[in-house]
Amino acid sequence: MATSPPSSETAVRPAAAADPLLIPVRTITGVGPTRARQLQRLGIVSVRDLLYHRPRRYEDRRHLARIDQLVPGQKQSTQGTVVALSERRYGTYQFQAAIADAGGVLQCIWFGQRYLRRLIRRGTRLVVYGRVEYRGARVMTVEEFEILTGDEDDALHTQRIVPVHPATEGLSPRLLRTIIHRALSAHAAAVPEILPPALLEREGFPGRSEALWALHFPSTLADAAAARARLAFDELFLLQLGVQMRRRAVAQVNKGYRYDVGEEAIQAFVDTLPFSLTSAQQRALREIVDDLRAPAPMNRLLQGDVGSGKTVLAAAALYLTARSGHQGVLMAPTEILAEQHFRTIRRLLDPLGVTVALLTGSAGRRDREELLARLAAGRVDVVLGTHALLEGDVIFHHLGLVIVDEQHKFGVLQRARLRRKGFHPDVLVMTATPIPRTLMMTLYGDLDVSVLDELPPGRGVVKTYWRGPEKRPQVYAWVREQVRRGARAYVVCPLIEESEKLQVEAAVHLAERLRTGLLAGLPVGLLHGRMRPEEKEQVMAGFRRGDLTVLVTTSVIEVGVDVPEATIMVIEDADRFGLAQLHQLRGRIGRGTGTSYCVLLAQAATEEARMRLETLAATHDGFAIAQADLDLRGPGELLGTRQHGLPDLRVADLARDLPLLERARDEAARLLAADPELADPRMRATREELRALFTPQETAAVG
Ligand code: ADP
Ligand code: MG
Repeated sequence: MATSPPSSETAVRPAAAADPLLIPVRTITGVGPTRARQLQRLGIVSVRDLLYHRPRRYEDRRHLARIDQLVPGQKQSTQGTVVALSERRYGTYQFQAAIADAGGVLQCIWFGQRYLRRLIRRGTRLVVYGRVEYRGARVMTVEEFEILTGDEDDALHTQRIVPVHPATEGLSPRLLRTIIHRALSAHAAAVPEILPPALLEREGFPGRSEALWALHFPSTLADAAAARARLAFDELFLLQLGVQMRRRAVAQVNKGYRYDVGEEAIQAFVDTLPFSLTSAQQRALREIVDDLRAPAPMNRLLQGDVGSGKTVLAAAALYLTARSGHQGVLMAPTEILAEQHFRTIRRLLDPLGVTVALLTGSAGRRDREELLARLAAGRVDVVLGTHALLEGDVIFHHLGLVIVDEQHKFGVLQRARLRRKGFHPDVLVMTATPIPRTLMMTLYGDLDVSVLDELPPGRGVVKTYWRGPEKRPQVYAWVREQVRRGARAYVVCPLIEESEKLQVEAAVHLAERLRTGLLAGLPVGLLHGRMRPEEKEQVMAGFRRGDLTVLVTTSVIEVGVDVPEATIMVIEDADRFGLAQLHQLRGRIGRGTGTSYCVLLAQAATEEARMRLETLAATHDGFAIAQADLDLRGPGELLGTRQHGLPDLRVADLARDLPLLERARDEAARLLAADPELADPRMRATREELRALFTPQETAAVG
């Protein structure tokens, strides 16, 4: 396969010469356009991505078990030469190859992989891995295999501890191993060290080149573990440097105007509330007020479990901003939530003389234009809304405060766009999704954090039950009985990820079936994302008043909806939802006094689904649930660092690397305290890699 000529490389990326990690992976011998595309599917674009592609496991092929020593019931590896082939064509296709070594014969079985008959012939030498059973003879269900070629290349794949990398179609672990070996041979020696020598010493880490070799081709498993720790540390350290430098940069900005936030203004607001603030709310309010008064813009995350009372703090901040003559904006992910906030916040701020407006995608053109004009002229103090606020023609007179509710529903760029409508405005992002510590320190590492770790008093408990689908009739009979006694219930219909349309259809259908079947005679309402806003509002109002006692709905109610009288929730096919999402849904009940009930109807086909449902039934602690979610799903899926404008983590594992992350954070802080700009010439490589890692998008998000 062709290699790009070096001259064109230098032409494309002149700056890359200093650090071989930054050059594209297609410069490696054997990586042509096809391989490059396959690698890209694994997220590998640069040599760095490739060398930090962590083996999913290691296989000790120094002493491969002889076939007669294989232990039934266990997963093991062995090798041998194919002596006989057969296929089973009836039922599920099976490909079978008997391999032999000096000690015996092993029958290897693959299911459904017809192409194997072109690959595996008599005389082929194989390394196989899988569970061995004894059925009159030794049989292995093969999970992974490699064909040995018999040339010197085999040295890479046998007689040593070999890495097994996450692979993809057309790109086998064996091929990856070869490509990575080439990349290491070509570049590892020239990879610059990015950790200061004193740090290396303190941590007892191997050097970077050494660690890169040992991650993929370790002499012992202990070496592999040490290498992994070192390289994971690299990632976390760079991430922390980036995040902390960003934070320092923001702290140096002067927002250029003063807030007039007197104690009497705060008191005036608090006095209008029908309840007294919890001590967690008081603490958070204090932190927010201090931020408003400070010369640098607020950059704060307000985090509190569902129902902990974040909205009222948003209202307080908006009020204080308006009192100081600046405008405030609050963006929410759904129209239902934006309208609810509008109602709540207008009720609170109207009597205090603050003009509050609502802007959603469904505003009529005339209304919209009129509102935009008033906004631009500074005649509206506070505007609440949805994504519609991001439109280019939404212009503020002087935007002082940006609040994003349920911020995990938005991307970095959307937040940045809203922020750019002001000049270094204060920013408050709110979330009910509990964030495990590791994520907090990385994804949100540039934010100050206020936590509401306390629910308002008088909240009832929520009891959660998981029932199989065969219990549906009983569950709905019970709902009917509860409703007859005055309860209000949500019925959440199954999540259909692929299509909102299908989900809406499912909701319509379910509502119809319940109206004519299990809940016949009860006023059953229907709410979904595709309804017209007036319809939605009408239905919500009916449910709030109690004219509708059952509300069949989709996951549109997942965020924010607050109807304290609702005490029952049935979630159909609950196993289709993620853990965090189920917790959010369940957060819609238990908002009043008395006991609420959440029933999860689900079959739970997989072990993972069972774990989710059991976790949810067992605990109501958002943090425990978030941690379980992180453990179950793994950080990759949950994290989307890229989406946050941060570099991907390949070696580090946020579900497990908290201690390492804490050390990386402290070391980054120590380094920046001595050298805030990383100006020391010895830090040049670190600086450059940092610049390459943090995407240009992220720079935009800071401004
Ligand atoms: P979340 O944090 O989930 O956004 P909300 O702001 O929607 O929670 O608050 C949930 C409910 O609790 C609302 O009905 C709100 O009026 C009420 N609430 C908020 N703070 C208090 C408090 N200190 N005492 C009593 N009720 C409160
Ligand atoms: Mg809320």
